[in-house]
Amino acid sequence: MKIHFLGTCHGCQEKNRYLTCMVLEVNDAYYLIDAGAPFRYIMMNKDMPVEKFKAGFITHMHGDHAIHAYDFAVGCGHVLYLPEPEDIKSMEDLIYFMHCEWAYERFGKCAIKCVADGKFYQDENIQVTSIPTKHLARGKSFGYMIEAEGKRVLFTGDLSGTFEDYPKITEECDFDAVICELTHFEVETAMPKFNRTRTKQMIFNHIRDDKVALLKEHEQELTVPYSLTNDGDVFEI
Ligand SMILES: [Zn+2]
Ligand SMILES: [Zn+2]
Repeated sequence: MKIHFLGTCHGCQEKNRYLTCMVLEVNDAYYLIDAGAPFRYIMMNKDMPVEKFKAGFITHMHGDHAIHAYDFAVGCGHVLYLPEPEDIKSMEDLIYFMHCEWAYERFGKCAIKCVADGKFYQDENIQVTSIPTKHLARGKSFGYMIEAEGKRVLFTGDLSGTFEDYPKITEECDFDAVICELTHFEVETAMPKFNRTRTKQMIFNHIRDDKVALLKEHEQELTVPYSLTNDGDVFEI
């Protein structure tokens, strides 16, 4: 499988980074993980046809992860998973208040579903398991464990400021890669959790430059191999 990093920024802008957006590629099919970036525009410029998408998964409804999600469901007509029913209503309201009449008309016919507990999506290529996190003050947020081609990866999504919700499963299962956000990272709370993670590699996205500096300052304490992502990076897992 490949992971295309289309947007690697957190909610406040950093130079040369679109907001969070990734595309997982498995067997010539695409899956969207978060839609903070204008994925259609970026993919058009990379000759990645959006017709190859089979489904999209939003970790939580902060704008830096979800602002372009309606375009995935309404514009492209793909199956989109949002954290909870209220999010579907909020998305419909957003389209209404933007006066996007064509999208508002089509909204009811779109395949927008809610994430369920545990294993909630499976097709011929991948299966996806939801892992609840505590990122939002109100509303649900998730990390996603994705198994495909005999490999296992985890997208943590955004975590709480203390990293208390860094998924426990990272100590229980072997992963080929854990894709973790680097905005709420603090050395004391996050580093021991990274070091207990059973993974071949950590891949950091949701990059905040001051947290990169902090990580580099303490990198000798990190026992797992890690990479930092930039927009346009493609990781073969
Ligand atoms: Zn975020
Ligand atoms: Zn967030």
